[in-house]
Amino acid sequence: MSSYAMSPLMGQMMSKPMLISGLIEHADRYFGNNEIVSRRVEGDIHRYNYRECHQRAKKLANALAGLGVKMGDRIATLAWNGYRHLEAYYAVSGSGAVLHTINPRLHPEQIAYIANHAEDQYLLFDMTFLPIVQAIAAHCPGIKGYIMMCDRDKLPAEHKIPNLMAYEDLIEANSADFNWPVFDENSASSLCYTSGTTGNPKGALYSHRSTILHSYASSLPDGLNVSARDSVLPVVPMFHVNAWGLPYSAPLNGAKLVFPGPHLDGKSLFELFEQEKVTFSAGVPTVWLGLLTYMAQNNLKFSTFKRTVIGGSACPPAMMKTLRHTYGVEVVHAWGMTEMSPLGTAATLMTKHLELDDAGQQAILEKQGHVLYGVDMKIVDDAGKEIGWDGKTYGNLLVKGPWIIQSYFKNEGGDVLEDGWFPTGDVATIDADGYMQITDRSKDVIKSGGEWIGTIDLENVAVSHPAVLQAACIGVFHPKWDERPLLLVVKKAGAEVSKEELLQFFDGKVAKWWLPDDVVFIEGLPLGATGKILKNKLREQFKDYKLPTA
Ligand code: ADP
Repeated sequence: MSSYAMSPLMGQMMSKPMLISGLIEHADRYFGNNEIVSRRVEGDIHRYNYRECHQRAKKLANALAGLGVKMGDRIATLAWNGYRHLEAYYAVSGSGAVLHTINPRLHPEQIAYIANHAEDQYLLFDMTFLPIVQAIAAHCPGIKGYIMMCDRDKLPAEHKIPNLMAYEDLIEANSADFNWPVFDENSASSLCYTSGTTGNPKGALYSHRSTILHSYASSLPDGLNVSARDSVLPVVPMFHVNAWGLPYSAPLNGAKLVFPGPHLDGKSLFELFEQEKVTFSAGVPTVWLGLLTYMAQNNLKFSTFKRTVIGGSACPPAMMKTLRHTYGVEVVHAWGMTEMSPLGTAATLMTKHLELDDAGQQAILEKQGHVLYGVDMKIVDDAGKEIGWDGKTYGNLLVKGPWIIQSYFKNEGGDVLEDGWFPTGDVATIDADGYMQITDRSKDVIKSGGEWIGTIDLENVAVSHPAVLQAACIGVFHPKWDERPLLLVVKKAGAEVSKEELLQFFDGKVAKWWLPDDVVFIEGLPLGATGKILKNKLREQFKDYKLPTA
């Protein structure tokens, strides 16, 4: 070992711990008048600012201390995107407790499993989710009390929920005189379970340090690019991977926040976008589908909206083109996962790409993009050997970085890293400029005669047909090739297309041997708790399907 490593000269800068409470303190002090607007479960619009948010977060922190909440205790939420949920984000993590956001779209049995596994002490919930709380309370003996996020007069007259409190009572009864505790930045701040499409859900336990670093990196111009000039509407829920970090990065940058509450239909979203002069948003493709359908039907245009981040599943190129060309909205395609806080990559252009024509630029923007500084990635073959970056050869995608999981909560699943890298379960290519493109999830890839067929490409072609609303491609049994692609299609309302026409539409767009062996038209696709198509359900449903080629 060199003498440099033995006796480093230490820097002489402050080592102030990076804590989540610092974000809301900063927003209060420097952007105190900037607005937070919420469409509430109650039906009305609520408006206040970062200063008032901070005051109420401190009152809630005092309330939690009064309830006996200690450092490291898990406090659960079942809530939409709204100002009270934001207050909980800061009150819980700021106090040194752990904010456990639960996805209300999960089955109540799974919610109870997660709450028990996390050993949640209290649960805060929106009125909408009263039926869920009523269903799980008897199965969650560890939860000491339930806080309904409403005024007292909204509490149910009769119920079997132990120790049920009204959120506004707690706020009213407590003072805003609270000093955020200072502790190790590596302490746990929040907990989010994966959706558990395979096996039981597992918890990703974020730290204050990982959250702050993720907030810095995701705010960069080639990331989410959030600034004090933005009005940000996170459609992506605060109950799944912290709304892609926007409840942290918006206050960090002083951006106005607009919360849609439970109203995620096209009409409600469009009205809020216009009313609150939204400039930036983020969500999964299925959300944009609803909004764009509503806008097309009513011949509407955005007046202020200029940029959106789309991720969670591949953004169909047809959707990206509609947003870019018909509505003038810049689309940043991003990729990440619960285990990555979640952001890993985003697709934006480099100087040399500015000379390309629109089709050339679109081809780059369709990729999942470049890593944010802090994340490192590589692709490997099945033997773990690294694969070159030629933009064509695909392999298993591995990542590492300071906001990427090291091990699951309670060490579920044991050591998950491979040589210090986290295996994402995605299959991807990386090109010579470092742009990554996902071809599939490894469990969705179709294995045809020893070769792989990526389903995302096939689905993207299908949804670019004017009569197709949604498409999913799955592998079904074939006696000669093991598996062949079956395309499942949901048609647009009133549109017509035949199986033969659709298959012909693939001509010249994909390799001949990738062509689906058959097409089945269905009424709708099953969606999981995070808005993704449940391919395992489809595989189960079509497992005995006999292909005409078989
Ligand atoms: P889950 O709990 O289902 O894993 P995540 O939200 O963590 O939920 O899902 C992460 C996965 O979603 C990624 O591993 C990847 O397969 C998929 N994904 C996310 N963003 C994209 C994208 N832009 N394109 C394609 N797939 C994506």
